[in-house]
Amino acid sequence: MADTYDVIVIGGGPGGYVAAIRAAQNGLKSACIDNWANRDGSHSFGGTCLNAGCIPSKALLESSELYHRAQEEFSTHGIGVGKLTLDLDTMQKRKTGIVGQLTGGIGALFKANKVTGLQGHGRLLAGRKVEYTDADGKVSVLEAANVIIATGSTPIELPQVPFDGDKVVDSWGALDFTAVPKRLGVIGGGVIGLELGSVWKRLGAEVTVLEAMDDFLFMADRAVAKDAQRQFKRQGMTVLTGAKVTGAKVLKKAVTLSYDDAKGSQSVEVDKVVVAVGRRPNTENLLGEDTGVELDERGRVVVDEHCRTGASGVWAVGDVVRGPMLAHKASEEGVVVADLIAGKVAEMNYDVIPSVIYTAPEIAWVGKTEEQVKESGRAYKVGSFSFAANGRAKAMEAAAGLVKVIAAEDTDELLGVHIVGPMAGELIGEAVVAMEFQGSAEDLQLTIHAHPSLSEAVHEAALAVDKRAIHAINR
Ligand code: FAD
Ligand code: NAD
Repeated sequence: MADTYDVIVIGGGPGGYVAAIRAAQNGLKSACIDNWANRDGSHSFGGTCLNAGCIPSKALLESSELYHRAQEEFSTHGIGVGKLTLDLDTMQKRKTGIVGQLTGGIGALFKANKVTGLQGHGRLLAGRKVEYTDADGKVSVLEAANVIIATGSTPIELPQVPFDGDKVVDSWGALDFTAVPKRLGVIGGGVIGLELGSVWKRLGAEVTVLEAMDDFLFMADRAVAKDAQRQFKRQGMTVLTGAKVTGAKVLKKAVTLSYDDAKGSQSVEVDKVVVAVGRRPNTENLLGEDTGVELDERGRVVVDEHCRTGASGVWAVGDVVRGPMLAHKASEEGVVVADLIAGKVAEMNYDVIPSVIYTAPEIAWVGKTEEQVKESGRAYKVGSFSFAANGRAKAMEAAAGLVKVIAAEDTDELLGVHIVGPMAGELIGEAVVAMEFQGSAEDLQLTIHAHPSLSEAVHEAALAVDKRAIHAINR
């Protein structure tokens, strides 16, 4: 007889493992099948996020930022460190250690919550059956009342610049460099391009980012994107917008990237290339015959607003479905689905999902950009405040960037908050909570913020919405 579960989750990333834990917390017998393969062939839960995404990238961003600050900034504080050295091997080992601790933690959470963790490949069959191929290739069929697809995504490969695992790599490859490339080419000036470009720039690489779109960070509010672009330029990162890469010539010691821009055909020679032009959903060998699950034109599993697929009892969450490819979005969808399966009331608020780019300065936002509000036709007011006038930012030697608050003209409801500056990724949390409660600019104005703190910049930007900022000239 087939093993039966209340819930089988296919995929053990932040969407899948979180769904499996919440399902178990809800008293449901749950299993999570995951086929992640580390470079050495070993398996660990956590998917892209823990193994090759959010966590290792943030570990390297932190280390490289410390190195950069020691090199560029310590002397401003009167601190001399003698000759600064870089031990990349130790830096990488630290990163690997953090990944190991966190992925190992999932095993412990599964055990504590009585989730059955299964290592191997899952394939959905008709009638909520799942074909499970274990690590040794043994095939069995499991049955479940509900199946959650959480198979995530994979880097997109450009046909004109194929990965070779050495000179032309994807984001995972760029997290694992064993030496700092002298010249690094980054194709795609999105989140990964800027984060990984920053890591290697701070460690000494000459970085050239080639971005196809004319607008830098087209998804961000223009004021924030412009300010960030200025700061990256000042740091010495070359970001070429409107640059469409046409090909790559891999030479023995270098790569020549050719691209077209407004001026015509151009080329740049680099030592390594990271291709970071987005990710595609993982759906290969996922669906058997007649499952009733549909894919859209981009290969994503089609779901409704509650993550239900077209097949009864089959759900899908995370990068494999529509919406932003973010770990916290995947996890929250997993929680919502596990709660809905258990008969609870649960809803995903897609309007209030924060985005954070962990560069220096960090860039973070929630809600609509000014351009989107304008396009919607809704009357609005804006307040901005510069970190240049924030005492804590000055003390941190990080007094650049701004906070921008957008509120509805009629109701004062917060429509969007955009930050470029120190710890923007932490500061945005306040705006997320306020917006989750449908808060107003006045709610932020009336909230007492600690002094001196970076959060005072959020407070002042909210005051500026009504031209009442204290430490700025209100216009
Ligand atoms: P995944 O994490 O991709 O997990 C899916 C899992 O399912 C994988 O383990 C995969 O091997 C497995 N799988 C696939 N098919 C099958 C199958 N048929 N059977 C069994 N298992 C299967 N997001 C953020 O929010 N913040 C960040 O700071 C951030 N940084 C990132 C940095 C980098 C370099 C990258 C690449 C991504 C980053 N992301 C970040 C994005 C984030 O990693 C993803 O949005 C998130 O991992 C999606 O979670 P998921 O559970 O949907 O999929
Ligand atoms: P992205 O969508 O953020 O950026 C891709 C960029 O590549 C875009 O700006 C696009 O215009 C550009 N591009 C596309 N084709 C191109 C081409 N042929 N030549 C030059 N440029 C081209 O994708 P990404 O940076 O690969 O990241 C993938 C996903 O991972 C994103 O959805 C992102 O949300 C997620 N992620 C999130 C974080 C975070 O939350 N901090 C960090 C890393 C990744």
